[in-house]
Amino acid sequence: MSARAVRPAAASRGRARRAGAAGPGRNGRVRRWTGARLMAEAEIARKTAYAPYSRFHVGAALLTRNGRVFHGCNVENASFGLSACAERTAVWKAVSEGVRDFVAIAVTAGEAGGASPCGSCRQVMHEFAPRMLVYWRDGSGRIVRRRLGALLERAFDFKRKESK
Ligand SMILES: [Zn+2]
Repeated sequence: MSARAVRPAAASRGRARRAGAAGPGRNGRVRRWTGARLMAEAEIARKTAYAPYSRFHVGAALLTRNGRVFHGCNVENASFGLSACAERTAVWKAVSEGVRDFVAIAVTAGEAGGASPCGSCRQVMHEFAPRMLVYWRDGSGRIVRRRLGALLERAFDFKRKESK
């Protein structure tokens, strides 16, 4: 499962870069994203996690249709309720840069620790990309893949959204 392409057609336009970079890849080279590759990006993102209270460090890598990857990490706060998950950090980074067409996200809490997205993050991702793929590691370290819609059936949807 880990070696399967995320979405070849979607990920083939432009060379994938870290957050902050955009545009077509060098030499027009096509890079195909796999769950394992996206998970490797999430591992990089995890290194910046700020989790002095729980010591539960989480990283996320959010892949967009044109091949950009936005990193996110969890950011805790002394007032625990203000803490933010890695997935939402990545989503907010992307949206704040005008990017909303997500195709996949990988989440990791370490090589062996499982960490599927929490309910709040599922709802936030659903706002922009209900059909996106979600990768995470199970308790044995294997990469699991599901469509977001399968993880959040009958998500809340407010009908009168702004049109753009
Ligand atoms: Zn969450």
